Formats: sequence, structure tokens, C-alpha cells
Amino acid sequence: MRPYILAETNWKALKEQEVSLAVLPWGATEAHNYHLPYATDVIEADAIAAASAKIAWERGTKVMVLPTIPFGVNTGQADIKLDINLNPSTQLAILDDIVAVLNRQGIKKLLVINSHGGNDFKPMLRELGLRYPEMFLVSCFWIQAADRKKFFSVPGDHADEMETSLLLHLRPDLVLPLEEAGEGKERKSRIRGIREGWAWAERQWSMVTEDTGVGNPKEATPEKGKAFLEAAAANIADLMDELATVDINDRYADSNA
Ligand SMILES: [Zn+2]
Repeated sequence: MRPYILAETNWKALKEQEVSLAVLPWGATEAHNYHLPYATDVIEADAIAAASAKIAWERGTKVMVLPTIPFGVNTGQADIKLDINLNPSTQLAILDDIVAVLNRQGIKKLLVINSHGGNDFKPMLRELGLRYPEMFLVSCFWIQAADRKKFFSVPGDHADEMETSLLLHLRPDLVLPLEEAGEGKERKSRIRGIREGWAWAERQWSMVTEDTGVGNPKEATPEKGKAFLEAAAANIADLMDELATVDINDRYADSNA
């Protein structure tokens, strides 16, 4: 039993236990090229949250990881079989209920660990911050917690070299042989501003990619996945320590010294 994983702990252990920071991992259930499981983002979310919390816990930080929410925003994949969409407004309703519990019980700090590019918690945390002014609400897109260019050579953002490496490390039993994966070729927008990244429209996934992947997975290895996960976990563990100890009413300083 890992005492920092809510799904594994028990009332006996938790009753008197202090919780300084709640962590909510959030994934998605969606196709990942031909070769990765639908739960890829959930498996990644579980793993990064647990690995980070383990480091923080062993340093004395009273962190508690809530169960991963398995469904994310898949509004751009409505025609892809059994991609399960939660609308952003549904996510806001779920978050509101969870934050209400934490607020009522005096656990005033929440870190949402996002594991899916279609999820965007910033506007929701703005709105909930107004509704629950005593709460300190933080989100982090975990794959940005380490510099992917140091670990992976092929660019991509879905079922790519990075995600395939992570799954080869975490759940090799669920990864098809890489010969069965598509190339993850991405068609680019005809609109220059969107191509350059300073304008935005949601990608219509089935117009962008044949195999649902974006980024060629063929260079993936479990070693790369392990190294990337560990680098990200080290940073997120530091974030957990800082969030757990910071005084909410004194969380800004004149300099970073
Ligand atoms: Zn993914």
C-alpha cells in the first residue's frame, strides 16, 4: 500500500493523517496510432503522479494523489471510434465538486496533473479560484516538466516517439510491435497563422492524420521513456514540495533569490 495514493490507502491510515496537497491526475481515453492502448494518457498520468508523489512523500511532503480521471476533451475526434469526449463544461462541473470537497475539509491546495493535450484547465481554475478564494489551484501539463528534445529525436505530439517510449517502459505488454504502427504523418493547416502557431483552431483529427498518430514512433525505446519520466518526476516532486509548504497568503517575492 502506497500511503500517498488515495485509491490504495485506508480510513485507518488516513483518519489522522495530514494532507498538505491534493493531486488530481487527468487523462483521456482515445486512439493512439494503431499500436498504443486507448488508456495511454491514463497510464502516463498514473505513472507520473505516483513517481513524483513518491519522491515528495519520502522527503516528508504530505501529498495525496486522487484517482486519475480517465476521460478528457476529445471534441476534435468525434468520428474516431470510442474516443470518449468530456466537454470542457463537464470537466468544470467535475472539478467544482472535487474542489468543494477539498475546500470544505481544509485541504486548500490542489495540483491538477494534465496528461492530454486536449484538456485545458487554466480557464477552469480561473473560474474556480473566484468561487473558492481560499483555495490555491495549480495545473501542470506534465510532459512540459522535462525538455523532450534532450530525450527524443523525432518531433510529434500524439502516439509519437515520446509516448511510445513511455508505454514501452510502463506497459510493454500493451504495445503492438512497432512494424504495426503507422508513420504518424501530420497534415498541416492551409492557414499560415495556424501553421505558425500564433492563430489557433482545433485540429480535426481525422483530416490531420490517417492513423490517429502525430509523430513517427519508430525510434522509441523503453530506456528513453524511463529517462524522460524520471526527469519529469524529479521536477514535479519539487513542485509538490513547494506547493505543500508555500504560505498561500505570502506566495510572491520581489526576487527569486
Ligand atoms: Zn496521449
